[in-house]
Amino acid sequence: MDTKRSALAALHAQADACRRCAIATTRNRIVCGVGDPDSPLMIVGEGPGENEDRQGAPFVGRAGELLTKMLAAIGLRRDDVFITNTIKCRASTEENGRVFNRAPMQEEIANCREYLDREIAIVKPRVILALGAPAAKSFLGAGFGITRQRGIWYAGPAGTDLIVTFHPAYILRLTGGQIDAMKRLVWSDLQAVRRKLDELKQAADLPDGLTASVDHDGRPLHPPAQAEELKLF
Ligand code: URA
Repeated sequence: MDTKRSALAALHAQADACRRCAIATTRNRIVCGVGDPDSPLMIVGEGPGENEDRQGAPFVGRAGELLTKMLAAIGLRRDDVFITNTIKCRASTEENGRVFNRAPMQEEIANCREYLDREIAIVKPRVILALGAPAAKSFLGAGFGITRQRGIWYAGPAGTDLIVTFHPAYILRLTGGQIDAMKRLVWSDLQAVRRKLDELKQAADLPDGLTASVDHDGRPLHPPAQAEELKLF
């Protein structure tokens, strides 16, 4: 196993043994980051849900399917990037014998920050895409407002460039015309990520798979026709 993979495996074992939060005793499986540990792009979501908790991997449910399509829209496969979350245990609540996902508490995000920071230190991404307000706030502070402040480049941790877009689970909850309006915003944020990776490629040497101007099926990546863009994800 290469150095990064063995460091991530050691981190996984430590996170698995962590009992800083009560949710460490209610979750089934710890969910640490997966993907290419040499990727320049790290995606940071909120936290594992029911499916992730069962399978022990991030973004494997419906939001994960949409994330896969969002990445494909800018020519990236899931395996090309490193995908993780702000917290590694499922935050849940029980009502009438049923277990529901809930948003992570500030204390849980703070307790888990060490594991996220260590993932960042091991993977050394150049770009972080934070999905949704909780992930954005964990990097940019409690005052972050996603509606006004998404789609802008910030100085992220460990010298990264950080940008925020809406969480795919949020897009899935929208209805009617709201969906297309939201997809337009997300599409522009994804293109900003694409351009940043292309710029990094020009300035230094990034893996070719991340810098293609055509997608994996040979279709041109950008700029797509207006009507086409909303069908991409
Ligand atoms: N939502 C997240 O934020 N992370 C996951 O891993 C799955 C859904």
